[in-house]
Amino acid sequence: MTNKDEDPNKKIPGEFYISSDEKDRIIDKFVSELLLQSEIIKKQRNAIDHYRKKLEEKEAGDPSIEIVVSQEETSYNDVGGLDDVLYKIKHFEYGMTHAGTYTHFGETPPKGLLMYGPPGCGKTMIAKAMSNELGCWFLEIPLSTIISEYVGKAEKNLNNALKMAKKTYEDSGTKVMVFVDEAEQMFRKKGRNVGHEVIDRCVNVWLRTMDGMGSNEGLIFVAATNYLESIEPALLRAGRFDYLIEIPKPTLAGVEDIFVKQMGVRERKAERQIYCVSEIENISGRMYDVGMTGADITEVLKRASLQCIRDCIENPIVKDIPTVTDSLLMKVINDYDRVQKQKRKFGFDVGNG
Ligand code: ADP
Repeated sequence: MTNKDEDPNKKIPGEFYISSDEKDRIIDKFVSELLLQSEIIKKQRNAIDHYRKKLEEKEAGDPSIEIVVSQEETSYNDVGGLDDVLYKIKHFEYGMTHAGTYTHFGETPPKGLLMYGPPGCGKTMIAKAMSNELGCWFLEIPLSTIISEYVGKAEKNLNNALKMAKKTYEDSGTKVMVFVDEAEQMFRKKGRNVGHEVIDRCVNVWLRTMDGMGSNEGLIFVAATNYLESIEPALLRAGRFDYLIEIPKPTLAGVEDIFVKQMGVRERKAERQIYCVSEIENISGRMYDVGMTGADITEVLKRASLQCIRDCIENPIVKDIPTVTDSLLMKVINDYDRVQKQKRKFGFDVGNG
């Protein structure tokens, strides 16, 4: 028998045969599974759209980013041991207040001030005192809020902050000091921020903003850093942060000046005498010997006050309110120094204080 004559119903061994009912059932099951799959895909697509929208919103920058503009009370009189620095600061101030006189002599006033030096020596304090002296608003750019892991958001946040500073000036007619603390974080050298390219883009925002802004547009740019060597050099060129001032650690005379001024600040605030100190030279000498900065001196005075507060609470029968004495201060200084040394040795706080 040839192929042509083969029986069409003949079953071939090894092949599968199903009835038409069974076929229908399989097709129905297949169709309902397809429908279920398409429903799942639809839901997944909705979820993806939802997340994409959220991401776009985040990339667009958070309009509610909190930027606080304040009026400062600190004054140059409270800054101790930095007379030479304050003299130089005055030059910068004149560039802001008397720009016309600069141009009269064919000079361009500086655009931005960058203070550098070890931590705790008064950079932020000087910026606040200057904003007070100039009678302008003080806007500290909040680094952690600005720098965001979302691509594009940091630049937008920064742009928003700078726009807000400009708007504050336009609305109030009062200049705004835009202050960047720990500037090495936002102004880090370009091309060295692998994994943090967002910083490179922030540097670009600063360059564009400062280049596009004339001296009469109401913003005063001031920054502070402990690491001058890490700052992107392009930001230090003329028309940008082109006025550099070093804020050094205090000398012996500087320590004494800070000590006396800080006692004055605290008594002014308390509106009463807090200190009964006769050996100012001795105490300043000890502070200097252990390498104290202005921030350390402030902290020591605070701790001495806390001790007096505790004495007041624990000995209510004592009539006289305790004052901070020489011996209390010496004790606090020595304890503070001991803990600082331990911190330096072990890398963390091991004691009380
Ligand atoms: P920096 O910005 O250089 O790290 P800060 O200005 O934040 O230092 O200093 C912290 C605190 O220490 C100030 O608020 C102030 O109480 C005190 N302080 C620092 N330097 C001085 C100074 N030269 N004169 C008076 N107080 C100072």
